[in-house]
Amino acid sequence: METQRMPTLFIGHGSPMNALEINSHTSAWRAMGESLPTPRAILAVSAHWYMDGTAVTAMEQSRTIHDFYGFPPELFAQNYPAPGSPDVAQRVQQVLQPLPVLADQQWGLDHGTWSVLLHLYPQAQIPVVQLSIDAREPPAFHYALGQRLAALRDEGVLILGSGNVVHNLRRIDWSTRGGGPSWATEFNDYIRSALMRNDHQAAIDYEVAGDAARLSVPTPEHYLPLLYVLGAAGAGSQVSFPTDGIELGSISMLTALCS
Ligand code: ZN
Repeated sequence: METQRMPTLFIGHGSPMNALEINSHTSAWRAMGESLPTPRAILAVSAHWYMDGTAVTAMEQSRTIHDFYGFPPELFAQNYPAPGSPDVAQRVQQVLQPLPVLADQQWGLDHGTWSVLLHLYPQAQIPVVQLSIDAREPPAFHYALGQRLAALRDEGVLILGSGNVVHNLRRIDWSTRGGGPSWATEFNDYIRSALMRNDHQAAIDYEVAGDAARLSVPTPEHYLPLLYVLGAAGAGSQVSFPTDGIELGSISMLTALCS
């Protein structure tokens, strides 16, 4: 079977409520789902599976994990019944050798993954596996794993990172709609322009951006999925930004599509 080389995609997922909302961001996600070549499978790297070690979900059928608190019952009622793919999980283990990658039977799809896939592929017909982020490792490690995962693009696998370039829950302002403080826009613009120049080293070394980086990435789990997407995209990729914007004062919705 002829397979098309798949793009790689980073989505700023923002609030879990985006799962239920139709807004400019979720509309952009929907449009991508309709225009991108249909993947054979999706490998999702979500901010919300951040642990000691690298693991890949290897079950035939994943559960939908409702890993949030204080949201309305409609959100807890959401289900994303995409099948898993033990075959793709095994390929992930192969391409990442000699790194030990645990074949996980416990996790599933967390909201970093399903809140965006509900919009991208609402029918949940495409198999999805998740890859965990090893919390002990530096940014360059995650970029290097992305580079090794690039082989899967030729096998029809869409590599999807789900996080947020700017993500600071302590600085959230629920009264704001759009716009943000200078440190948030500064860091978002810094990363966006690094991506436009294909300067992946600047994205890996994001901490040199100083205070703007420290406030935008107080903990790295929402930022690191971007490095998988860039590593898998490679240095010569074309990047576009289907949606962007600072929401709630401290969350960037920047989405980057690399092809
Ligand atoms: Zn999140």
